[in-house]
Amino acid sequence: MQRIAVFPGSFDPITRGHESVIKRALPLFDQLIVAIGENGEKKTFFPLERRLGWLKQVFGNDPRIRISTYSGLTIDFCRREKATFILRGLRTSADFEFERGIGQMNKMMYPEVETVFFLCAQEYASVSSSIVRDILRHGGDVRQFVPEGILI
Ligand code: ADP
Repeated sequence: MQRIAVFPGSFDPITRGHESVIKRALPLFDQLIVAIGENGEKKTFFPLERRLGWLKQVFGNDPRIRISTYSGLTIDFCRREKATFILRGLRTSADFEFERGIGQMNKMMYPEVETVFFLCAQEYASVSSSIVRDILRHGGDVRQFVPEGILI
């Protein structure tokens, strides 16, 4: 059976932290679906097309990675894609508390799916999309926080 994992997120925008988790997780799976979850109620800074374009630019050439979007529950997307792993990154204890609830409730709904957590690499522990957005709002340079070649 193919080991398919979903890495869900907003990627608003993608950061080097996301990139690092994706690269480190790749050897574990046959296929990794990097998926932008669309949530009608959550207003994003960048439109879906731009966020999708950056993911394709960074990972589009790797045959093990598929870029996708979905709406609704992540767990239902996993079911449709026959993915049995959800990949998430952990930076802080707040991330852990948040993820624990979601992970455990997902497990109750769909026991076949395991959530796999990657501890954030030390150098990216403080890198977050929300701080990148703040820097951008004030005209700062974010190049060191986003993957090489990404122009924002
Ligand atoms: P969401 O809105 O679902 O949290 P994000 O795009 O912010 O989506 O994050 C997607 C995943 O990447 C989450 O598991 C998040 O914890 C993880 N992540 C975000 N930033 C980093 C980072 N700097 N290092 C490791 N993981 C990260």
